[in-house]
Amino acid sequence: MGLIANIQRFSLHDGPGIRTTVFLKGCLLNCLWCQNPETLSGRPELMFTRRLCALCRLCERVCERQAHEFEDGVHRVRYELCAQCGKCVAACPAEALGIVGAEMSVGDVVDVVRKDRDFYERSGGGVTVSGGEALMQPDFALALLAACAREAIHTALDTSGYAPPEVFASFLDVVNLFLFDIKAIDEERHKRLAGADNAWILQNLKSIIGRGAPVIVRVPLVPGFNDDAEELRRMAEVVAALSPKPTVQLLPHHDYGRHKYEALGMSYRMPEETRRPAPESVEAAKAIFAQHGLTVIEEV
Ligand code: SF4
Ligand code: SF4
Repeated sequence: MGLIANIQRFSLHDGPGIRTTVFLKGCLLNCLWCQNPETLSGRPELMFTRRLCALCRLCERVCERQAHEFEDGVHRVRYELCAQCGKCVAACPAEALGIVGAEMSVGDVVDVVRKDRDFYERSGGGVTVSGGEALMQPDFALALLAACAREAIHTALDTSGYAPPEVFASFLDVVNLFLFDIKAIDEERHKRLAGADNAWILQNLKSIIGRGAPVIVRVPLVPGFNDDAEELRRMAEVVAALSPKPTVQLLPHHDYGRHKYEALGMSYRMPEETRRPAPESVEAAKAIFAQHGLTVIEEV
């Protein structure tokens, strides 16, 4: 069984063609700008969407842990008391509450993936296993990708690369395309931004490319964090030294996932002023990678 945060059908940004993206829960990194905070924890979690709440207090009535409090017309959720029993979710008439994280078998997920087989065939799409970091649930992710590969469904793994090399290598036979993130090349900067060093990441990248795996290196471009010319130049040097040279995709920062932090009772850690990078910054970043002989794409 795997713990699934979400299955997104008709996804257009997680690999070639029309795809079904399976988001697994759990990640060992903790990037400051993470847009999928609901996938960080490896456990189910309660989500509360305040704007939908009708203040009917039915959740308070059914919760045995007193996790819902109301004071002066404000609904406060005490996430630390929640045991994820789901009773308040079932009681809420406004769909303001949900549990993110459902246990599913490989067969359950493949049943969902199979539904769009026609779209994959027509568009050159397939399934993308993402997270969090899918390799936090290595047995499940491997079995899921192998099951899809057996059905001739194109498989992609969207990964931070942060996994023990022996675990990472075991995915080579079942993944048709790796979407491999590099967030920073400087080790200290990587620790500061992502919560861990990048030694496994760089080792895994070199190893799979050396063994012939198709890879797209994806670089989140985050103004003020990893987009200075020196950092990008060092990143381009490392990527360009790989053989064969992988294609690079730049992912300009956005904050579309920001509302999820409040829903999970988490703090959003990015500064207010960090916005999407200006088009000229993206062009400058592209130029740095291109100067190193790398092909840079905007979409896969
Ligand atoms: S999921 Fe259960 S424990 Fe958590 S807040 Fe709702 S009713 Fe209470
Ligand atoms: S049951 Fe739903 S709508 Fe009613 S107070 Fe609780 S969260 Fe709000």
